[in-house]
Amino acid sequence: MPKSFCPKCGSDADVFYDNVCMQCFIGNKKLLGSPQIVYGRICPTCGSVFRRGRWQFGGKKEDTVISFVKENLELNRDASSVELALTSKQLDYSRYMVHVEAKGEIKGAPIDAVMDTEVRISWETCDTCSRISGGYFEGIVQIRADKRLPTQEELKRCVAIAEGVAARSQEKGDKLAFIARTEELPEGIDIYLGLIKLGKQICRAVIDTFGGKITESPKLIGQKNGVDLYRITYALRLPEFVRGDIISVDGTVIEVQGCGKHVSGIDLETGKRFLENFNDLMDVKKLSRRDDAVPAVLVADEGRTIQVLDPHTYETVTVKRPEFLSVEPGNEIKIVKTEKGIFVLP
Ligand SMILES: [Zn+2]
Ligand SMILES: [Zn+2]
Repeated sequence: MPKSFCPKCGSDADVFYDNVCMQCFIGNKKLLGSPQIVYGRICPTCGSVFRRGRWQFGGKKEDTVISFVKENLELNRDASSVELALTSKQLDYSRYMVHVEAKGEIKGAPIDAVMDTEVRISWETCDTCSRISGGYFEGIVQIRADKRLPTQEELKRCVAIAEGVAARSQEKGDKLAFIARTEELPEGIDIYLGLIKLGKQICRAVIDTFGGKITESPKLIGQKNGVDLYRITYALRLPEFVRGDIISVDGTVIEVQGCGKHVSGIDLETGKRFLENFNDLMDVKKLSRRDDAVPAVLVADEGRTIQVLDPHTYETVTVKRPEFLSVEPGNEIKIVKTEKGIFVLP
């Protein structure tokens, strides 16, 4: 078999690229180029990155630094099957060195590259972080309850709901959807928000869980570039009654299961389900709570009525037999004593 040699440099060769040996073909071709220094802006507080004219979510600082170099690499247009490995090392407060190793092919000829690029970071506080640290807010959600104080449990859940809504909104890219602070007050809690829109979303989510009503009051706080700036207060009132309340409604005594636009529960006299539009109810009054129930002995079951031993007076009291009763006489049942008499709880 005749020996082949490169027409350009004369050396022996088996494989040719554009009719010359690999060394001659690659010559001074470069797989990639990179500026010696690249610049970037990162928020030291939250890691956001300034890109294309605005602050955007950033990942880990090291990854962001590497991405600045990656964005500036100029790959040879004929290259294919390129593999890149970038590692970063911090030099001082604001300088990193990124080491790039690359390999690939140009028209089938293997080629690699190694280079170092310096990244200079300017650490700047992003809009969101400067708003947060400046105490900025656009909206307030005031959580209160109608004709009572909200329970600690309700307030805790409302704050958790608000945090969940804010987190989801931030994930979708609304960087200003932050909770600036919360303020506990004797009558409820105030949640300060970085974004007006978030106020309505939080109210909707709370009402989905607890029911309730909101009233909005916008307040003009100034102007920016000729546009009026408003701050909106959402006053949210949780319903007057909560699950477990024993209330009398137009003469019927019910244990509340839900209260919002509608009141739902169990009629404690008959055991039937109760569901009415809250605004249609005329005479509503709270009598007791399930938590105030006491055990009492069921003395006799007479079909339409039952006899219960009042645990306080030791007198036998006759009450209507509710549908849900399934206990045999001689056993304990739970009762509540109210101004409207004794009621058995399911
Ligand atoms: Zn050659
Ligand atoms: Zn930030």
